[in-house]
Amino acid sequence: MTAFADLGLTSCTLEALRDVGYEKPSPIQEQAIPPMLEGKDVIGQAQTGSGKTAAFALPIIEYVDPTEPEVQALVLTPTRELCIQVTQAVRAYAQRKGADVVAVFGGAPIRTQQAQLKAGGHIVVGTVGRVLDLISRRSLVLHSCRFVVLDEADEMLDLGFLEDVEKILNMTPNSRQTALFSATMPPPIRKLADNYLYDPVLVKVRSATLTVDSVEQFQLEVRTADKADKLVEVLAAEKPDQAIVFARTKIRTDQLYKKMRDRGFNCKALHGDMSQGSRDGVMLGFKGGRVPILVATDVAARGLDISTVTHVVNFDVPVSPDVYVHRIGRTGRVGRAGRAITFVEPRQKGELEAIERHVGVPISQWEPGAHVTPAKVTERPRRHAKPQLTRNGSEKHTKLIITGGRAAGIEVADLVGAVTRAAGVDGEAVRDVKVLERFAFVSVPAGDASRIAAAVDGEDVRGTTIRVELARA
Ligand code: AMP
Repeated sequence: MTAFADLGLTSCTLEALRDVGYEKPSPIQEQAIPPMLEGKDVIGQAQTGSGKTAAFALPIIEYVDPTEPEVQALVLTPTRELCIQVTQAVRAYAQRKGADVVAVFGGAPIRTQQAQLKAGGHIVVGTVGRVLDLISRRSLVLHSCRFVVLDEADEMLDLGFLEDVEKILNMTPNSRQTALFSATMPPPIRKLADNYLYDPVLVKVRSATLTVDSVEQFQLEVRTADKADKLVEVLAAEKPDQAIVFARTKIRTDQLYKKMRDRGFNCKALHGDMSQGSRDGVMLGFKGGRVPILVATDVAARGLDISTVTHVVNFDVPVSPDVYVHRIGRTGRVGRAGRAITFVEPRQKGELEAIERHVGVPISQWEPGAHVTPAKVTERPRRHAKPQLTRNGSEKHTKLIITGGRAAGIEVADLVGAVTRAAGVDGEAVRDVKVLERFAFVSVPAGDASRIAAAVDGEDVRGTTIRVELARA
């Protein structure tokens, strides 16, 4: 068994790892840390939950010189949620070394971030747009930047950021060391790696070994009217350290949160109708362990990865088997055991059967103190918007134009969520999602396009009422 010390990390970093309580490296860390320490470029095919953040952050921290008041490393992320999450992790790992970590992301005052950069910042973690902005204002200077990390590169591609990523890479020294992490490797990402990485080492982990195969899964048949009482009963019996309770809609999330709060539970709600600021606050409270129970929608909880989550309760049956695997993958992270309990109303039995077929095992009835052997479930790579070519013979797709885009805080996952929910289609049916500043595009099966457009038109996405029409061929 490999230990962190065998990977070539020095005592200061090993102490930091003891501080955060990691006992042994995860597979991606085992594979990526040695070549990173040797100064090699690395492509890591791994997703959230694999421990990829430490895989790139620890080698960087080894080489950062805290006495040098310059930006020495830049980590680019596709979204502000990921930016905040990565920053928190890197800060924890860098604390002993005394390296300063600054987060820069859109939607927050740029002045504050400029001041933070001016005051220091050896490692900068930022979203693509804000980083470019700060470079153009000369608040972010990259001439001493020796490390660049592209985190969740496929997500950057889906969001249309690759050109901007290239611009940023072109402004960093040629001698830099570059690491690219991505859950999937579509051709544009390979091309980016070919053009900007030098002789990279490819490391790859299968997510299944790290995510939901350590989750005990249960179902609980319950009548609609009894759900809230049952939730109280389940929480009382399970005594979770931390639980995420998933509800299908923002309204249901809010109602449930209020009910739980009124019954004396220390809980918080997380959904898309809340301001970005209060969402960040809730996320930090939950991650920091101050809030034991989070009631959330799928979209709001996307990307939330908390290794301390012991329980996932599906208060509402997930809209699809994929969403189910995604939800229960929030618990049982990095080898820890987790428990997932799904409430099933009598009319939802068919939906649960579809989930059982997908995970390949029957899901046992929950009762207090019940235990089952976790099943191997493969979390497929996230494919919110994997561009797919329509091959001969396969279904044709039609493009929809949606008013509402990045400016309204809308992300790829929001649109996939809105289409699957409002039109009742599977996530697979939604392709080629592109979110621009004020518009977005999605492709849906041509035969069903008019119906889908009508169903999604007028939906509320992150507080914006979106309008949908068919694009002209
Ligand atoms: P990441 O994929 O980097 O977002 O990490 C997923 C979660 O696993 C985070 O909550 C980390 O704190 C945790 N983690 C990362 N590496 C380890 C490790 N070697 N041992 C235990 N937990 C870890």
